[in-house]
Amino acid sequence: MQIFRGNSISKGIAIGKVKIIKRHKYNISRKRINKKEIETELIKFEKHIEEVIDDIDDLIKKKEHTKESIDILDTHKMILKDPDFSNNIKNLIQSDLLSLEKAIEEHFTQVIGIFNRMNNSLFSSRSSDYRDVAERLLGHILNQKKNDDKIDDIDIVFSETINPSEVTRFFTMNVKGFCVESGSKHSHSAIIARSMNIPMLTNFPNLLNSIKNDEIVILDGNEGLFIITPDEQTLDRYKQLLQEQIHYQNELTKIVDLKTQTLDKHIIKLMSNIEIPEEIDQVKKSKSEGIGLFRTEFLFIDRDTLPEEEEQFKIYKKIAESMYPEPVIIRTIDAGGDKLSNILNPIMEINPNLGLRGIRLSFAHKALFKIQIRAILRANIGGNIKIMFPMISCVKEIRKAKAIIKQCREELVTENKEHCEYIKIGAMIEIPSAALTSDIISKECDFLSIGTNDLTQYTLAVDRDNEMVDKYYCSIHPAVIQLIKTTIKNAHDNGILVAVCGEMASTNELIPLLIGLGIDELSVSPGKLLELKQIILDLSYKKSKSLAYQILKMDTIEQIKKKLKHV
Ligand code: PEP
Ligand code: MG
Repeated sequence: MQIFRGNSISKGIAIGKVKIIKRHKYNISRKRINKKEIETELIKFEKHIEEVIDDIDDLIKKKEHTKESIDILDTHKMILKDPDFSNNIKNLIQSDLLSLEKAIEEHFTQVIGIFNRMNNSLFSSRSSDYRDVAERLLGHILNQKKNDDKIDDIDIVFSETINPSEVTRFFTMNVKGFCVESGSKHSHSAIIARSMNIPMLTNFPNLLNSIKNDEIVILDGNEGLFIITPDEQTLDRYKQLLQEQIHYQNELTKIVDLKTQTLDKHIIKLMSNIEIPEEIDQVKKSKSEGIGLFRTEFLFIDRDTLPEEEEQFKIYKKIAESMYPEPVIIRTIDAGGDKLSNILNPIMEINPNLGLRGIRLSFAHKALFKIQIRAILRANIGGNIKIMFPMISCVKEIRKAKAIIKQCREELVTENKEHCEYIKIGAMIEIPSAALTSDIISKECDFLSIGTNDLTQYTLAVDRDNEMVDKYYCSIHPAVIQLIKTTIKNAHDNGILVAVCGEMASTNELIPLLIGLGIDELSVSPGKLLELKQIILDLSYKKSKSLAYQILKMDTIEQIKKKLKHV
């Protein structure tokens, strides 16, 4: 038995088998060859193609496959046997004097680019097959084979890093926990893991050298440690803790039908944040009063084609119908920052969190933005959908977005497509400039929602994804609290409600402060909702207001922490 200590970024306990996920990083150092090497390179090409085809045949024989997965593997063989492919590679070697690996990279980059640009989802979906074949072949030549293993629902994923779309994808495969070498607690990956109640640990240098696939592991997201090959006593103890965790969750279900109000009857609306449509079941179970934030960018990332209007329309309509009459706040695409899309963010920005993300990206890709708006307007027949714009920095952006909505509505009228006459509009307040001008922004909006994750990042100039500056990231910095206070006051003065949908709303110790500051709604991951409801049920609004009043007068984080007993 071996114990490894790191940091927890999502709580909970999981017991399962180690599953190592290695990233495919192909470092092609040998790019060019001289004329004398041409012949050897061509022989190498034939040899590797033959071996990779044999590997695929072995894979088909060795494993249990569905018809679909055999079809995919057969398609990969066809790509490798295609004479056009072989001629192009030979040409790149003979005429351009490229090394075999560089020629392969060049060829597939071109082909994938062509497929991606095709305005037809069937053709463009083919690019993922080409990417797969490219990885398989390069992996073989550079001696780094592709991992074809399946993920089981008893697995705990170990990886160097994990991106948000992988977390959502693994969630649908019933993965029980994540452990990564590096990753910040404020990253979207961590937020999603927390939202799905999946434990996640980070900060284990050389993690992948310390473990082996299929070893039994206990992940303790409460203590920030994992245990490899636990002894019987430890395993029994953790099985017991796991039972207690399940029991606690079951106990919370007893308050599911209670109204969310403080002891002195101050009502708070409790809503849910979702990242993927699959979370709706959990939202329904917790009897959430609506979706306070649907992060739609996860429909756009980790895929090779963008979702068309029809696909988006169906998703939004289904969610709106299943939540009816409760509201569903759809946030328009916020790709960028750490939520990168292959297609929308093809260029690696030096400073992505200050770059083309949120509403800026939508304005830069107006056609794509219009597709999303049209899909939302068409899906809002029941009238319970609201639109929210991310990364608003000034009122002009709201006015511009509203003009685009108007344009979309006019187009739908001309096309005689059913859609809603009216839709409520909200701005996310996550940039200090928006908080400071929230008086003007409120006049153009039906509601505001404070994104405290980004508001903290941009107020304190701390990259939320960078572990090295983690200690500077603090949502209870007096400046952040002042901006929240300003936003609430300005919204209320203009007769609109204001929510917090960032992680501050999920931090138990901060609930009295937010409620005392006058927040109307809290939106959190569905798995957290009942825990939060219990906190609110035990709270006095009068005392919370007095607490907020005292905190607003404090000058340091340390004083505030002490007052909130925040760790
Ligand atoms: C936020 O910034 O607080 C927020 C809710 O948006 P996201 O975490 O998706 O950037
Ligand atoms: Mg944000």
